[in-house]
Amino acid sequence: MSIVDDLKGQISKNRIIFDKPELKDQLLGEDVTAELQALVHHLSILEKLRISSIIRAEGHHGVGRAFDIGNEEIAKTLLPKVATDPEVMQWKIDEIIFDASKSDSGYDRNKWNYDIGVKHKFDEATLNAHSDHIHFAVKAPAKPKKERALVRALRPQGHASPAVAAASPANAGGLMLLDFRTYPDNHVMPADFTLAGVGFESIGGVGRLMVNDTANDRGLQFDASGLRVVLRRPVNGLLLYAGGFAGAITVTALDSSGAVIHQQVVKPANVLLRILLNAPNMRTLEFTGGGGEGMLVEMVTPD
Ligand SMILES: [Zn+2]
Repeated sequence: MSIVDDLKGQISKNRIIFDKPELKDQLLGEDVTAELQALVHHLSILEKLRISSIIRAEGHHGVGRAFDIGNEEIAKTLLPKVATDPEVMQWKIDEIIFDASKSDSGYDRNKWNYDIGVKHKFDEATLNAHSDHIHFAVKAPAKPKKERALVRALRPQGHASPAVAAASPANAGGLMLLDFRTYPDNHVMPADFTLAGVGFESIGGVGRLMVNDTANDRGLQFDASGLRVVLRRPVNGLLLYAGGFAGAITVTALDSSGAVIHQQVVKPANVLLRILLNAPNMRTLEFTGGGGEGMLVEMVTPD
C-alpha cells in the first residue's frame, strides 16, 4: 500500500475530513510532500482530523509542506503525543504552531510549539493567528516528488572536474569553487565573513547565516532578510547551486557601482538547482526570498 492508499483508507473511515473538497485533492496529489502525507496519516491514527487548509500562497503552505487542522479542540489530547523531540524528529516536523491557552487557560501559550524542529516561542501576533487551528509544517523533502529527476540530471555539471571539487575553496583551470558542504551541519556562521576573498553577509546584518542539511545536501542557509555575496572582482559569468525551501529565492546581480544588471527567480522551490548567471561585470550578488530557508550550496567563479 502506498501512503496515498493509506490516506484514502483513513478518509473512507472519516478519520480525515475536509473543510472543502479541493483539500482532499491537495492531500492526495503531487503538490504536497511525501513527508506531509506521512504526518497527516500518523496524526489521523491518533485523532480524527478536520483539515482546514493545505496549499495557499504563504510560506510553507506555498511549497506543500504545511497544513492546518481546523478541529483545534483535539489539541489537548493530540499535541502531548506529538509535540515531543522524538516524535518531531521521527515525523520530520519543522513547525507546530498553536496557542495552547485555548486548550487550557493555565497553559503557556507556546507549550507545544516548534520551529525548525526545535521547541520555539512564537511572538504574540503569531500566537493570536493560531488560536482557531493547529498549524503543522514538515521539513523540506529528502526526495522531492516532482523534481527528483531534474536534480539528478543537473547535478553532474557542477562536478565536471574532480580537481575543482576536491577541496574548498579550490581552484583549477581558472575556476574557483566555494563549497559549503565542508562545514558541519548546523554550523552557525558569523553575520559577515570572508572565504577566499569572497565576502558573505546577511543583508541588513539582521538575519542568521548557518550551514544546514536540506534535501540530501548541505549549504549555507540564509534568513528571509537575504544573503549578500561580494566577489573578489567583477566577473561575466558564474555558476551557483542553490534553492529556496520555504518559497523561491531571487538572485540579483549588481555591478561595482551597485546598479542591478541581472535578476533571476530560482524556480521551482523545494529543490536545489544549478544556475548559470551571465551578465557583464557582476560584482555583488544578492539572494532574497526563500522564506527563511534559502540555501547556497556551491558557487563556481572565474579565479
Ligand atoms: Zn498553517
